[in-house]
Amino acid sequence: MKKTSFSEYKLSNELLKAIKMLDFKNPTSVQEQVIPIALGQRDTIIKSQTGSGKTAAFAIPICELVDWDENKTQALVVVPTRELAIQVKEDIFNIGRFKRIKVAAVFGKSPIRIQVKELKQKTHIVVGTPGRIIDHIERGTFDTSQIKYLVIDEADEMLAMGFIEQVEAIIESLPRERMTMLLSATMHKDIEDLCRKYMKAPKLIEIEEQNIYADKIAQERYSVDQKDKLGLLRDITVVENPDSCIIFCNTKLKVDEVYNELTKLKYTCEKIHGGMEQDDRLRVMSEFKQGYFRYLVATDVAARGIDIDNISLVINYDIPQEKESYVHRIGRTGRASKEGKAITFVTQYEGRFLADIHSYIGMELPLKERPEKELVNSSKEDFLEKVRALPDVKETKGAQLNREIMKLHINAGKKTKMRPVDVVGTICNIKGINAEDIGIINIHDISTFVEILNNKGEQVYRELQKTPIKGRIRKVSKTDQ
Ligand code: AMP
Repeated sequence: MKKTSFSEYKLSNELLKAIKMLDFKNPTSVQEQVIPIALGQRDTIIKSQTGSGKTAAFAIPICELVDWDENKTQALVVVPTRELAIQVKEDIFNIGRFKRIKVAAVFGKSPIRIQVKELKQKTHIVVGTPGRIIDHIERGTFDTSQIKYLVIDEADEMLAMGFIEQVEAIIESLPRERMTMLLSATMHKDIEDLCRKYMKAPKLIEIEEQNIYADKIAQERYSVDQKDKLGLLRDITVVENPDSCIIFCNTKLKVDEVYNELTKLKYTCEKIHGGMEQDDRLRVMSEFKQGYFRYLVATDVAARGIDIDNISLVINYDIPQEKESYVHRIGRTGRASKEGKAITFVTQYEGRFLADIHSYIGMELPLKERPEKELVNSSKEDFLEKVRALPDVKETKGAQLNREIMKLHINAGKKTKMRPVDVVGTICNIKGINAEDIGIINIHDISTFVEILNNKGEQVYRELQKTPIKGRIRKVSKTDQ
């Protein structure tokens, strides 16, 4: 069957260029179904898991639809967690990069002052968690009067976290004339009610995810006593010798315990759970994404929506007590057309959870025997070699896009009445440079940041050393801020 290509949709060249640079060759099946409908501005309910390319499925049409010239926010994406807010912001930013889409993330436990400042500037799209969005709306620091596109991402998780009323309050405060997209891995009655109440003749798009997982992820289980779990974990990691592995536990305490053990054994290892400071959580996620360490011990906070490619092995050190959680956890591997493996430890008291999972995924996890001592011993050398090897640090997703872009700092801002048009006017006067080479401009009180696209940064930087901006030569420097 012929594959659809992104160029078949009516997308602007700026978007097609970003999609190409992100190396999205063809739309995934959820994108294939969602993009044309969303471009037609019809409401959609999307039943699909993470890992299916669902973020781009809403980000692409929304980036296409927003009007660059409108200064007020036009699209709002509501997500359940801070990590997901950052992730989705990054994804939208990458897709909208060449259209110079400005996107802000607002979430709790982070200084509101900085977010208020960001929201005051031109912001096309806001991504946020419910509590903080409401906070901004109530303070009058987030103008929702021009919102035309609303996305409710991971609605089931929002429900599980008790956010549905807040989501409703947000919806109530938005203009009625809008397109709404709701994404959920599962459809609970409360979510159906929400859709009925706030969506207009939505098109239901359902992606059969469980089968995709079954194809791409080898799933196994081990029967084990609680006290033998650490030994089994050691043996399995030695035999499997994964490049990158998440070990899921059900409690923070257990995460700490497993993390301490693995650290003692000199595994390159970090941990993440809800009890940690926000900054630490984000740092750990970012370092894991880049491959600074191989083993991440985590509670479910890390399982939802977090996009990390190349995880070769997921271990459920504790069997999840909710069937949905099993699918989310194993969905951390086998992403974006790669294959993965998921191993679940089951103690004799956990048959009930196992039975639930079996009926949910529609298959029985094959039971494996603990690896033989000989196999473990013969695998040790390779394992130790990998433990000792330096990490293979990966580029972040936007890195290729970043390479084409240079960010410049101009030592003048609002206090000297600098406006975007002054910056654009000066730069466009440079020979060989036009408006398409200028990316996002941010003007602060005494400084201005401007992105120069298409590898033309060096030239603009050189010229601006001797070209006046708003009547004077300004100090212009390169920055990666
Ligand atoms: P998501 O389901 O949104 O978490 O996306 C899963 C992963 O697939 C992310 O790493 C995306 O960058 C990647 N992705 C999204 N769309 C495509 C595509 N059309 N081709 C290849 N990878 C994609």
